Amino acid sequence: MAKKSPWHSVKRDVYHDDTDCNVGNNIESENIRQGTGGKRKCVECKRLDK
Ligand SMILES: [Zn+2]
Repeated sequence: MAKKSPWHSVKRDVYHDDTDCNVGNNIESENIRQGTGGKRKCVECKRLDK
């Protein structure tokens, strides 16, 4: 499990905090922002928590 500080896409309503998350890793660089953006946690990142 690889944790880092949260990031999110301006195009999506979830944030990511796990470097193994495929969804989080596939965000186009121009859409990436740091922090949670006040969004929900991505379901894939939640699954990787376990
Ligand atoms: Zn994620």
